Amino acid sequence: MDSFKHSHSLGQNFLTDKNLLEAIVKDAGITRNDTVIEIGAGMGALTEPLAKTGARVISFEIDSRLKPFLSPLSSKYPNLEIIFSDFLKYDLKEIDVTSFRAVANLPYYITTPVLFRLLDDDRLSSATVMVQEEVADRIVAKAGGKDYGILSVSIQLSGSPKIMRKVGRAMFSPQPNVDSAIVRVDIERKRADEKLLSLVRAAFSMRRKTLVNCLSKSGYEKTKIINSLSELGFDQSVRGEKLTPEDFKKLSALL
Ligand code: SAM
Repeated sequence: MDSFKHSHSLGQNFLTDKNLLEAIVKDAGITRNDTVIEIGAGMGALTEPLAKTGARVISFEIDSRLKPFLSPLSSKYPNLEIIFSDFLKYDLKEIDVTSFRAVANLPYYITTPVLFRLLDDDRLSSATVMVQEEVADRIVAKAGGKDYGILSVSIQLSGSPKIMRKVGRAMFSPQPNVDSAIVRVDIERKRADEKLLSLVRAAFSMRRKTLVNCLSKSGYEKTKIINSLSELGFDQSVRGEKLTPEDFKKLSALL
């Protein structure tokens, strides 16, 4: 590990604590019957305890300099496949599986696109991911709170995310300048359709503006927005932050 030059831009903050790594696998509830997709294998610190469960594990790693660390693992565990590729560009349909769980200590610079990509796949059954603590707070935030926004609504439309544990910055090498947390979301509902997701994006497009303003700027018809909001019991000065994921679903159906 000493001679390896970590790439800051690839988010290479690795874990080493065996107890923590095993706890993450437990948090994810992995059993030998699962298929797991890991995003960002690094030196395999999390990959190995995942493979040890006997589950089928498919791990993505973008940095081929990590091959000397990862290739011995795929020789040791026949249930482990390592794909040296950019997870965001890989065609996930090539993975022949009916259902999978995602587990990852995510590279922070692509947390949101990775989460959206996972949620977009109907085969995802759960995601257990390490994210910056501030992002974890946004994921689990309830309507009306200061952290509530697109990320909270988009994820909560599919399931009820939970913070499983906080992980201090000192657990990583090299140490990042923020603390982290493990979040788990089990997919309970069919993924939100594009119409609903674009309504949510429009609702939060201008932070301090009313929902009527945000939506009408994005092309929705003003009187229709006002009437629909009133049907849901909101007046026209309401902001997007006040609507629960369920309210957004109803609003999308009305508009
Ligand atoms: N799982 C390891 C651990 O916990 O020690 C490494 C986690 S590290 C936070 C994130 C890893 O994701 C890095 O190894 C980095 O090279 C890799 N990575 C970054 N961008 C990626 C991408 N687009 N696709 C696949 N892997 C990526």
